[in-house]
Amino acid sequence: MDKTFISTAIDYVNAFPHIGHALEKIFADVFARRERLLGKEVFFLSGTDENSLKNVRAAENAGVSVGEFVDRNTEKFFELKKVFNLSYDDFIKTTEERHALGAQKLWHACEKDIFKKIYSGLYCVGCEAFYKEDELKDGCCPIHLTKPEFVEEENYFFRLSKYQDYLKDLIEKEKIKIIPQSRKNEILAFINRGLEDICVSRSSERARGWGIDVPGDSSQKIWVWFDALSNYITALNFGKGGEKFENWWQNNNKKIHVVGKDIIKFHAVYWPAMLYSAGLNMPDIIFAHGFLTVDGQKMSKTIGNVINPFELAEKYEVDGIRYFFLAEFPTAEDGDFTYEKFENRYNADLANGIGNLFERVFSMILKYGVENIKDAGVDEAIADLYEQTEKSYSEKMANFQFYEALKDVLLFAGAMDKYINDKKPWSLLEDKSEETKKILNGLIFSLEKIIFWLKPFMPAKMDKAENYLKNLGGQKEKLNLFPRIQ
Ligand SMILES: [Zn+2]
Repeated sequence: MDKTFISTAIDYVNAFPHIGHALEKIFADVFARRERLLGKEVFFLSGTDENSLKNVRAAENAGVSVGEFVDRNTEKFFELKKVFNLSYDDFIKTTEERHALGAQKLWHACEKDIFKKIYSGLYCVGCEAFYKEDELKDGCCPIHLTKPEFVEEENYFFRLSKYQDYLKDLIEKEKIKIIPQSRKNEILAFINRGLEDICVSRSSERARGWGIDVPGDSSQKIWVWFDALSNYITALNFGKGGEKFENWWQNNNKKIHVVGKDIIKFHAVYWPAMLYSAGLNMPDIIFAHGFLTVDGQKMSKTIGNVINPFELAEKYEVDGIRYFFLAEFPTAEDGDFTYEKFENRYNADLANGIGNLFERVFSMILKYGVENIKDAGVDEAIADLYEQTEKSYSEKMANFQFYEALKDVLLFAGAMDKYINDKKPWSLLEDKSEETKKILNGLIFSLEKIIFWLKPFMPAKMDKAENYLKNLGGQKEKLNLFPRIQ
């Protein structure tokens, strides 16, 4: 059986989730759901990164123990699953036993490339990474715009430089496919500047004792990225070995990581090098998504424009929110959220668009009689348009072009509206000719297709529409799938 492994990044739990966290999970969820609809066996993984130094500092500020702090926040991250109808099969926390076991096993497997040296450099806690002077922007981390800290320690290093040629070939020849192309170019440029060995541990003292011990040296903790990246295999019980790991990682050629564009380097350079060093198989696809701004600005506590995903889900129906994030902007680019944009799109595409089309067709069929159109066939014009749309939609879905795929569906729905206007089937409700039956049956056919296409995006709404359609003969009430937002 065809199978797909798909993961999200694991979030730092130094604060409660904002809407950007939900966004990434929704992207991955749409892909996972589509794969399942295609009959594939899917393993969908998400989780939280609890070992980061950021979490330690945030807990100190909050005046609670790190353990208590991360538990409290992780619970909120896990809650996103239920609220946004995310279909994870597993959720890993890096404080779990299975994770520590696997991270240490991976360290052992990479040991030939690990060595100790005294090192000093500029460390950004936000990124959990060292920076070189020339990578900084006005002396600050280019992502967090904060001053990195000067750190001098004896640490363990990983011989990344050794894998320069291997990694270049891997990315260039798309043995790991990076989507979109612009991120692939960025990674190649990074590799071509020359890879340096990376620091893969920190002193237990600096880590305040929090994290996973370097095997055989409790004075050092495994660097958070080396630790975090391994979650993709520790969740598959890499630590103990066995069938789950062999089946989903080693013997599977569709392993996908969905990550934010800011952490693509860790996934497309460091992670493959670690896996290669350990003699393990590579991921197959890395998809990097863009970020969300609110009212044109980066979400920030200072500006006060952080959107709380739970409040948003109280205010609007979740499927409408899921739809907005996928239909408003291309997945790989940055997108902007405003309440106005949300309501406009919802009303235009869903209430007046898809919802209205369903309503129109259902009311005509109910008047005509469902039993009268059975086996009537489908108008060639509809069948052809369906074929074209299906082909285009499938290609786009396979490449994480959700925005473009939804455009296809909306165009198809628009064409059906036009078809109704042209054929005027409402004036033919007394006409029992084969042609009229074909027109109406074709419309039912097209709604079934729309439901199938939209299912990964709006699972609850499309289930509702599907059930309504299945029992169409017995319906007394209107469906009212997408009530207009006033
Ligand atoms: Zn940073």
